[in-house]
Amino acid sequence: MTDLINSFMAGPDERGRFGDFGGRFVSETLMPLILDLEAEYEKAKVDPEFWAEMDDLWKHYVGRPSPLYYAERLTERFGGAKIYLKRDELNHTGAHKINNVLGQILLARRMGKTRIIAETGAGQHGVATATVCARFGLECIVFMGAHDVARQSPNVFRMRLLGAKVVSVTSGRGTLKDAMNDAMRDWVTNVNNTFYCIGTVAGPHPYPAMVRDFQSIIGKEVREQMMEREGRLPDSLIAAIGGGSNAMGLFFPFLDDKDVRIIGVEAGGKGVNMKMEHCASLTGGRPGVLHGNRTYLLQDDDGQILEGFSISAGLDYPGIGPEHSWLHDTGRAEYVSITDVEALAAFQICCESEGIIPALEPCHALGHVAKIAGDLPSDHLMVMNMCGRGDKDIFTVAKALGVEIDTGG
Ligand SMILES: *Cc1c(COP(=O)(O)O)cnc(C)c1O
Repeated sequence: MTDLINSFMAGPDERGRFGDFGGRFVSETLMPLILDLEAEYEKAKVDPEFWAEMDDLWKHYVGRPSPLYYAERLTERFGGAKIYLKRDELNHTGAHKINNVLGQILLARRMGKTRIIAETGAGQHGVATATVCARFGLECIVFMGAHDVARQSPNVFRMRLLGAKVVSVTSGRGTLKDAMNDAMRDWVTNVNNTFYCIGTVAGPHPYPAMVRDFQSIIGKEVREQMMEREGRLPDSLIAAIGGGSNAMGLFFPFLDDKDVRIIGVEAGGKGVNMKMEHCASLTGGRPGVLHGNRTYLLQDDDGQILEGFSISAGLDYPGIGPEHSWLHDTGRAEYVSITDVEALAAFQICCESEGIIPALEPCHALGHVAKIAGDLPSDHLMVMNMCGRGDKDIFTVAKALGVEIDTGG
């Protein structure tokens, strides 16, 4: 099927569809807002001034470009492919999320919006949004499931320090899905001054394409950096997937380079074959509609959205961006899953052999690198997205390893 498609970089179509996926499944009241946003984004996209401001902030506020680092000791250890890490964990706020938030906030400013709303699960997108809102003096309201508020208290405190209001959502089961619903409801009721900042390549069109475009800075830099280092393109790209934004950002600029192998790694939790104790929407779900788009989802026989489970809080989005669903069904990208146990092992290897404490999310990608690198030739160039740093995860890791740490309290 891949041979029948001229370009994988042309989508989505005018209805926001990537093949059978994506689109705009929203209430009529939301439609004018979304059309307005789409029109403004289309203008901004071709406005050199918009991108000049982005570039300036990416460089001086976020710290871009992030390095492309040759991981010599991981390469030796796995004994095959030459492994490079794209160091997006060095960004301000410790992950890739800020790449996208900056873009959306600059767009909100162009549209004259003064009130920013966002949904967050583990709190990473909430923190990035609160950060950029503080930078621009904008009101920021973050919707977070009550259950997540309780288990992610350090991020809740960070958001409050940054001046954001955190709304604890008690409807439904009090998790990310309910926070997304409440954010959409808020948007409809506060049409005039409010901008909804989505944290991954999901939501109704144009969000999946827009977030992808903002995150594509990752892959664009990798192309240039790899040409400079090795004089050619990489042979494979590997990234972890929650909703899929860091992965789409790395993959997108390479989609039409058919020789570049592309692999997305979902959270396998306790194993994809057990009853939904994982977050692998592509490997273990089926298509349905959530968050305004059609995509692969974790759902039960009645179509009820399931929670999912992963050691990594940032991978627990119950769906996946629609573009990934399309890349999966067309065969352009491969999707695999890595379990909690495998990710934890990769975490320890990365700390010990590279002196980098990674977030648990990219450890899923590294877990897959560990599986396949040894069977590849030494001239195979592999790039893994190190999309976040692990400071936030050390308590989870300590617990999983059965270690007690004294927090000084
Ligand atoms: C949020 C997050 C993810 C998951 O989101 P994607 O949209 O799939 O990138 C992965 N890694 C880190 C470090 C995160 O903060």
